[in-house]
Amino acid sequence: AELRLVAARATVISPRLVLVVFRDITERERVEEMRRDFVANTSHELKTPVGAVSLLAEAIESAADDPAQVRIFASRIGAEAARLANLTSRIMNLSRLQASDELDNVREVSVDEIVASAVDAHAIQATSAGVEVIRGGDRGLYVRGDSQVLSEAVGNLVANAIAYSPSASSVGVGVKAEGDIVEIVVTDRGIGIAEEDQQRIFERFYRADQARSRRTGGTGLGLSIVKHAVQRHGGEVRLWSRPGRGSTFTIRLPLVAGPEEIAPRKKRAR
Ligand code: ADP
Repeated sequence: AELRLVAARATVISPRLVLVVFRDITERERVEEMRRDFVANTSHELKTPVGAVSLLAEAIESAADDPAQVRIFASRIGAEAARLANLTSRIMNLSRLQASDELDNVREVSVDEIVASAVDAHAIQATSAGVEVIRGGDRGLYVRGDSQVLSEAVGNLVANAIAYSPSASSVGVGVKAEGDIVEIVVTDRGIGIAEEDQQRIFERFYRADQARSRRTGGTGLGLSIVKHAVQRHGGEVRLWSRPGRGSTFTIRLPLVAGPEEIAPRKKRAR
């Protein structure tokens, strides 16, 4: 990070000598700016569903003697409420990941379990989108971390892969050990991501235009959660994508020995 200095205090020591104390404001300013942006963006994102709910409530009032209409508006209120619930829980998750406190539940976690729960969590979404999710690759690998956080991260990639794919296509979720790194690779043959968006989609609330018109249900927080979750585990996320051809997101995490490799050693010591 660049160092930005400001004069904090100047003391005249003699007519020819002035002592000036500088301090680095960059980090503090940056954190403060990020916090302000986050609050502003969050309020903006919350206003949309809240506004929709109050309009729908008015619509229900004026359609009170038309039960069919009332049912339609009521179900749309339900959908907006679900969207609000999803948005708030994602905002909570993201701010927890960004806070510096320790992850809750760190242990050796099976990559098979992470992938299985991520895929299972989106089985209904896949079926209704007509997209097949195919698992493959290495089995029996372990990473150290919070299994819920990691499953959510992989799940967000799976959800996006399904959401931005045409029906009757397939999404691949593969696992590969590369030296002391494990790669969890999520591939789709969907709409792809323009080069100029590829860095920005990991920012909070950023959505590429193409996708916005296609699917308005997203929060724009999914990839930001993925990035922070993976970084908290000492890993990184890589992206390959071509518009019209598809995308591949790769989560890279440090590989650790699994519990069964640790257990026999303990036995011998007894
Ligand atoms: P959202 O809730 O909008 O999906 P994300 O943070 O998960 O938010 O993703 C940010 C944006 O990145 C999406 O709105 C979309 O434009 C783009 N994106 C993410 N994953 C994919 C993908 N697999 N294929 C194409 N575009 C994607």
